Amino acid sequence: MTDRCSAASCQGPYGGENGPENCGDLGRFEVARHLRAPLRVCPVHLGPALLLAEGVLWPPGIILVR
Ligand SMILES: [Zn+2]
Repeated sequence: MTDRCSAASCQGPYGGENGPENCGDLGRFEVARHLRAPLRVCPVHLGPALLLAEGVLWPPGIILVR
């Protein structure tokens, strides 16, 4: 699904599984997901990803990674 290399950049706003429209910015947060790899997102897409990405836990688990 997501390899470690691409996980360094933002996978927002919908989790990198919705086609080529990925953001490409540096991912600064990791959002924990149910039965999926954590979602790496930039600050701009943190909010949309929480609400729109598949499998996001609620309340969300967010880690600041850099
Ligand atoms: Zn982004």
